Amino acid sequence: MSIDLEQIKLPSDLIPKDGRFGAGPSKVRDEQLVALARQNRHFLGTSHRQKPVKNEVAKLRAGLSEFFNLPADYEIILGNGGSTLFWDAAVFSIIEENAQFLSFGEFGSKFAASAKAAPHLKNIEIIKSEPGSAPDFLPHAQFDVYATPHNETSTGVMKPVKRVSQQGLFLFDATSAAGGALVEAKDFDCYYFAPQKSFGSEGGLFIALVSPQLVAQIEKIKSQNRFIPPILDLSIALENSRLDQTYNTPSLSTIFLMSEQVEWFNKNGGLSWAAGRSKASSEHLYQWAEKQEYLTPFVQDKNLRSSVIATIDFDESINADLIAKILRNNGIVDVEPYRKLGRNQLRIATFPAIELSDVQTLTAAIDWVVAKTK
Ligand SMILES: *Cc1c(COP(=O)(O)O)cnc(C)c1O
Repeated sequence: MSIDLEQIKLPSDLIPKDGRFGAGPSKVRDEQLVALARQNRHFLGTSHRQKPVKNEVAKLRAGLSEFFNLPADYEIILGNGGSTLFWDAAVFSIIEENAQFLSFGEFGSKFAASAKAAPHLKNIEIIKSEPGSAPDFLPHAQFDVYATPHNETSTGVMKPVKRVSQQGLFLFDATSAAGGALVEAKDFDCYYFAPQKSFGSEGGLFIALVSPQLVAQIEKIKSQNRFIPPILDLSIALENSRLDQTYNTPSLSTIFLMSEQVEWFNKNGGLSWAAGRSKASSEHLYQWAEKQEYLTPFVQDKNLRSSVIATIDFDESINADLIAKILRNNGIVDVEPYRKLGRNQLRIATFPAIELSDVQTLTAAIDWVVAKTK
């Protein structure tokens, strides 16, 4: 029976123009690719130490400064390895002794575990809460760093970016939030992310927006005699970023595609425009989930519901797995829940590049499939 159900064909008016709703890698716009193809001979396959590529890195850094309205004394650090590498770089180059971590899903817990395991650090305190909720920091003078995800991509919980103490450096993992949620530089010392989510590019790079206090901490740690593997040494990454390059060879297409996306955002109105698009799409999903009796938003506290990742629980009479399979067979991909969460759920990304009209078509498609499978 379920084999036949999987073969259900959606009517053509229920198929979104673009069927990519994944949490990352996420939708890349055709316009980005066309621009890259046009530049191919002058850009791809050329030295990353020469003008054409360095100019593109400079354009990306300037575009991000404008997009996030960064104060003149904030800097942008770029390097290879994505956000996961940045966690280990922070363990070596940002945390001096003691840090407090919030852990409320897969990504926050990984960074915390990495710091906890580092023999050169002292007290790593991890405050946890159940998936679907978020804990608060408990500030204490001993901590030189506080770290939390801005958006926990595994659960769809978004925690507002703010400082809870005058002392200490505040680090936010904004891998999925950056670009799709409002933020102000005064509220963070380090806001780091990767290109494959709201920036609709490819993986492999980390980007960190950092305050002068954070730069001072990197320099302070560098002056101590801690062993720092060069690839994790943020003083080296910073030195290279200031020269519009990375320490080792980056993916040139990743840089270009991201730079195109940032330009698109800025031309249309910047962060408030981009975040507004995510907000409109995610609100459509939450309202739909509250209206349909077979759906419930997984995150109960409305203030913690993410603008870029909507997690929607299905009534147990409906098999969300099967729904995801049917959608996938119709070209609508990556709405499966985070694998380790193990819920009867769909997880739908609403990054700025995703069209509200496609999200509306998607919800109509899901209602149609549910009716068919009942
Ligand atoms: C995707 C994601 C990561 C991992 O990013 P990589 O670039 O693959 O290392 C880390 N944190 C959050 C919140 C994410 O969404």
